[in-house]
Amino acid sequence: MHGKEQAIAPPLEAELGLRIIVPTDLDTDALGTFTGEIERPAGILETAVRKAKLGMEAAGLELGIASEGSYGPHPVVPFLPLGRELIVLFDAERGITVHERLLAESTNFAHTTAGSAGGVGDFLDRVGFPDHALIVRPNATSVENLHLHKGIRSQTDLEEAIGLCSRASPDGKARLETDMRAHMNPTRMLAIEKLTGKLAGRLATPCPSCGSPGFGQVDAKPGLPCAACGAPTELIAIEVFGCPACDYMERRPRTDGIVSADPGQCPFCNP
Ligand SMILES: [Zn+2]
Ligand SMILES: [Zn+2]
Repeated sequence: MHGKEQAIAPPLEAELGLRIIVPTDLDTDALGTFTGEIERPAGILETAVRKAKLGMEAAGLELGIASEGSYGPHPVVPFLPLGRELIVLFDAERGITVHERLLAESTNFAHTTAGSAGGVGDFLDRVGFPDHALIVRPNATSVENLHLHKGIRSQTDLEEAIGLCSRASPDGKARLETDMRAHMNPTRMLAIEKLTGKLAGRLATPCPSCGSPGFGQVDAKPGLPCAACGAPTELIAIEVFGCPACDYMERRPRTDGIVSADPGQCPFCNP
C-alpha cells in the first residue's frame, strides 16, 4: 500500500533474480498502522510474517516478503529519535523464515504543536517538508475530534489542517507529526532499501551444513576483553551465525575485526 516495492524490488532482483509482484487490493493496515488508528496486535517480526503470508495468499505464490518499521525515542541517547526497520522473507516450500533488522539513526521522526501555521518555527525545515509529508491532528484529543490529516505535502493543505485541528482541540493547538509511511518519507524509503540489500546478502549465503539459503548472524555474545587488563566487558566479543533451516551454528570473532575494548568501557579500569 505504501510503494515499498520501489525500495525492495531492485536489490532482490539484481542480487537474487527474484521478480517482485505486488498484490492488489491487499489492506495491510488491518495488521496495524503507523498513525495508531489500529494498534499492531503482534510483535514486529510476527506482524511482518503475517503480512508476507497475506500477500502470498493474495498472489498465490510460495515466497512472500514484507517489511515493518517502528519509530520512537532513542533508548540510550536522550532527545534523539531511532527507527527500527525489519524485513522478512517467508519461503513456504522450504518452510523457512529469513529476516534482517536495521537501526535507522538517520530519521526525521519528530513532532511539534502549533496554534497556527505561523507558529511552527523551523520544524518544517528540520523534518524536510514538503518532500517528507506530515500528519496533523488536534493536540488534545477527545471522542468528538478524532480526525487525522495524513500525507500533507503542500503549504495550503498544511495551513488548512492546522486551522481545523487547532480549532477542534480544547487547548487550541494542532499536533504536527512526521508521516512515517514509506511513500511519504524518502529517508525511510532509503533505510528500507539498505535493509533489503542486507537481506539479499543473507539470502545469497548458503548454510555450510545443509545448503539452505539465509545463513547469517543470529546472535551476539558480550565479553570483549579490555585492552589494558583483559577483563571481559559488556561489548560484543563473538558473533553467532545460524541457519534458518537446521541447527548448525558458528561462533566467529567480530566481523569488524575489533579484538579488544577501550579501557574506558572496562568495569575494572573505569568502574
Ligand atoms: Zn580493564
Ligand atoms: Zn542449515
